[in-house]
Amino acid sequence: MNERRLIIAIDGPAGAGKSTVARHLAAHFGLLNLETGAMYRAFALKALRSGIDPDDAAGLQRLARTTEVALEPTPVGNRVLLDGADVTDLIRDPEVTQAASRVSVHPAIRAWMVDLQREMGKTGGVVMEGRDIGTVVFPDADLKFFLDASPEARSQRRYEQAADPVSIAASTDGMSHAEISRELRERDERDRNRAQSPLRPAPDAIIIDSTSLSLEQVLDQIELVVNEKLARAESVSSLGNT
Ligand code: C5P
Repeated sequence: MNERRLIIAIDGPAGAGKSTVARHLAAHFGLLNLETGAMYRAFALKALRSGIDPDDAAGLQRLARTTEVALEPTPVGNRVLLDGADVTDLIRDPEVTQAASRVSVHPAIRAWMVDLQREMGKTGGVVMEGRDIGTVVFPDADLKFFLDASPEARSQRRYEQAADPVSIAASTDGMSHAEISRELRERDERDRNRAQSPLRPAPDAIIIDSTSLSLEQVLDQIELVVNEKLARAESVSSLGNT
C-alpha cells in the first residue's frame, strides 16, 4: 500500500478542527480531501429552496431522487455541486447548517449519502471527514482518527473563525458567543443521539483531544501515525518481493 491507496477517516463533533486538519493532511500526503458534511449541507440547501421541512422524511426521500450532490476537491477545500451548480459559498449559512443537522438524521438520506461517499472514496488516496466515516462509510479504513475538543474550546474556535475572512468553517455571521455555543451543542446532541449511525468513535479509532493542542501539534501526531503505517506497509511489501 502507498499513499495513493490510503483511506484515512476523520470523525468528530462540529468545531473540533476536522476540516482544517483534513485539508492539511491531504496536502501533505497528496491525498484527496472529501468533506462529507458539505454533501448534507448541499442537500439541506435544496430542501430549504424546495420548501420541504427538514423533518419531513418522506418529502426528503422524494426530493433525493431528483437531486445530484457532488464534491470536487481543490487545494483550498471542496467545491460543492448541487444539481451541477456550484453552491460552495451558500452552504455555510447558519440556516443551512441547522437544516443539514436535521436532514442527516433520516436513515434513507444517510443511506443515499453513504453510497455516494463509498463510491467517491473506493479507489483510495483520500482523507474523508465527517461523523460516521470510520464507523459506517469505511469501517475498513486504513487509519481512523476521532478528533474531539471540549465544548468550550470548540465554540471559542468557531467564534474566532468568524473573524477570519478566509475561513471555510460554517458562517457564524453576527452570532454571539452564546448563540454559537448553543448551536454547536444542539447539533452535537442530534448527531450523538440519532438512531442511525450516531456520532461515536470507531473501536479502532485513535482519539485525539485537541482542547489544549495547537493545529501543528495535532498534525504532528497524525502525520507520525500515517508515516508509521506507510513505512510498515512498505516493509511488508519489500519482504514479499524478496
Ligand atoms: O461537518 P459539517 O458541520 O459541515 O456537517 C454538517 C452536518 O451534517 C452536521 O451537523 C451533521 O449533522 C451532518 N453530518 C453527518 N454525517 C457526516 C457529515 C456530516 O451526519 N458524515
